[in-house]
Amino acid sequence: MPDTHWVGAHVSAAGGIANAPLNAQKIGANAFALFTKNQRRWQSAPLCPSQIDAFKANCEQANIHPDAILPHDSYLINLGHPDEEQLARSREAFLDEMQRCEQMGLTLLNFHPGSHLNKIGIDECLARISESINLALDKTQGVSAIIENTAGQGSNLGHSFEQLAQIIDKVEDKSRVGVCIDTCHMFAAGYDLTTLEACEESFGQFDAIVGNHYLKAMHLNDSKTPLNSRVDRHHSLGAGYIGMDAFSYIMKHPATRQIPLILETIEPEIWPQEINWLRSQTR
Ligand SMILES: [Zn+2]
Ligand SMILES: [Zn+2]
Repeated sequence: MPDTHWVGAHVSAAGGIANAPLNAQKIGANAFALFTKNQRRWQSAPLCPSQIDAFKANCEQANIHPDAILPHDSYLINLGHPDEEQLARSREAFLDEMQRCEQMGLTLLNFHPGSHLNKIGIDECLARISESINLALDKTQGVSAIIENTAGQGSNLGHSFEQLAQIIDKVEDKSRVGVCIDTCHMFAAGYDLTTLEACEESFGQFDAIVGNHYLKAMHLNDSKTPLNSRVDRHHSLGAGYIGMDAFSYIMKHPATRQIPLILETIEPEIWPQEINWLRSQTR
């Protein structure tokens, strides 16, 4: 019987991608996130077949389904960059990230949509992001572009459900685009999650504006900053302004079955307990 819920954390791939599934297994996870290259550098060596084979073998041994793995792209990429040259550089790097996922047999790539840097308008930036997604989907197969909602810090777009819907609207292949909701970002962007009623209201808005069928992954983080702070600071579950009710609500929500549910909380030493607690909430 396949597991109904895929719960894990963003684990280290230090020493090679094949270590990530082993690190996930150590914390009792059946899902994980990873960087497939150094997230703070433009260039990285291509993946070699032996690394990929070892990665796949370790995932199988750890009993982790490829669809439960959520690679995260480089922090340098801005798919809505106002400058043409910088935009081209970001698009090239994003395609490389998509191709790495393809080579690894993975189906999702999680990315931050982009920033207008106060040089172009919001609509123009969102249109650039959609076009960047189209270009990457055109040149790859089997990998979906998973847009992460942001806290709306600085000029980062994708903090409102309307903006996520606007990006998706201009993506040609709707079957290969989705959303990763980060609870900390959602809360910092102004969507209340502090009570079950507030969760129902906020997730109801997501369904009405974007659609639950686009929810392909989640980042489960509490927030160090209050509602609508527009500041992205993760906290351990229950230790921040969101509190435990939201995470209990999410684990019972039908849209969270068999999608990667990934902790990016700040105390890796308690990830095993956080994972166990999340699983206990599904019933
Ligand atoms: Zn996140
Ligand atoms: Zn964050």
